[in-house]
Amino acid sequence: MSNWKKRLAAGVLAFITLALAAVPYWPWEEAPADREAIGGAKIPAGPYVALTFDDGPRAATTTVLLDGLAQRGVHATFFVIGENVEGNELLLQRMEGEGHQIGMHTYHHKSLDQLNAAGFYAEVDSLRATLTALLGREEFMLRPPYGMMNAATQARAAAPIVLWSVDPEDWSDRDTARQVEVITENTQDGDIILLHDIYPASVETALQVVDTLMAKGFHFVTVEELFAVRGKTPENGTVYRRLPPSSAG
Ligand SMILES: [Zn+2]
Repeated sequence: MSNWKKRLAAGVLAFITLALAAVPYWPWEEAPADREAIGGAKIPAGPYVALTFDDGPRAATTTVLLDGLAQRGVHATFFVIGENVEGNELLLQRMEGEGHQIGMHTYHHKSLDQLNAAGFYAEVDSLRATLTALLGREEFMLRPPYGMMNAATQARAAAPIVLWSVDPEDWSDRDTARQVEVITENTQDGDIILLHDIYPASVETALQVVDTLMAKGFHFVTVEELFAVRGKTPENGTVYRRLPPSSAG
């Protein structure tokens, strides 16, 4: 199968898996924002949105993205692949130093529902160890590749599992204009946007989205800050996603 067909099939499977699983909707849906939690009254009252980037880092594109985010004073969240961290250690330290959140996306972009215990630990715990050696701490959120997971994944995660709610499928066409339109027309308070910082078009999309949504009053935060501003603590092994409006009530 071609790459996009595989990803489409994985996405459909992930949707079915998640539709069947009893997963909570995001805990911040009804919670009032608490600005003190992320820096006090100098933080605007919201709405809040989190930009997340999977599959990197990739030096050429991630560097451009970090430059653009720094110019705008925006923090994002990067779910990195272990093998892409190799050789890009300074880039990871720059991310951390500039206030971005770093999370795990497995060592080799493996579908976690396909792995036995040994495979899981090779993909997730090895990446956690790599990040701990580099950054000096042990707590990192997990985003499963393709959103694929099962009960064993949750039991083994030892991390909050964070999905997304706005997905322009940027890998499918590398079309910045279309992606910007999809994101800016669908993003609401509390959303988590999914992009991939390995594509130049996606980097351009992200920066245009920041400019457009900031002009509408949105405040960009990391995923951790999205929890904190609502006074919520992410729990290890819990899947965080937003259910469709029809099923959230
Ligand atoms: Zn991925």
